[in-house]
Amino acid sequence: MEYGSILKCNKCNREYFLYLGNGMISFCEEQLFDFNNKYGNIIARSNNSGIVNMHELQEFLKLENVKINKNFKNDFYYCDKCKSFEIKFYYYLRNDSKLFVPKYRCKRCNHILNHTPKKNTHYSYYCCKCNVSIEDTGFVVEWD
Ligand SMILES: [Zn+2]
Ligand SMILES: [Zn+2]
Repeated sequence: MEYGSILKCNKCNREYFLYLGNGMISFCEEQLFDFNNKYGNIIARSNNSGIVNMHELQEFLKLENVKINKNFKNDFYYCDKCKSFEIKFYYYLRNDSKLFVPKYRCKRCNHILNHTPKKNTHYSYYCCKCNVSIEDTGFVVEWD
């Protein structure tokens, strides 16, 4: 199952469709750690999202007993500086003693993005045209 959400700017009526689904490429945890899967593995997925700390990720993957959080997915990341948001591959890795969190930079201003789960109302999203906050229409589109 893949899904996306629709946000709308009340000023210019522009609609933002946000793709949030996991997608078939790495729907399963196994695929993320299958490095023969050129597109679906965790390095490719992180790279696709523009990860900054790739070297740290590669080193972490060499450790023993590395596990990923169960709710990895494409999710909202928000830039505090220019107030824009992007969809990135959200996950973290951990082993018995260490934690790895991917870092992504804002495309517009290069600032490090924060992961902001959609339901976190502490953040708002801005129309890139009008710079006013845009509303979640609550409309979620799902498809197989
Ligand atoms: Zn607008
Ligand atoms: Zn920014």
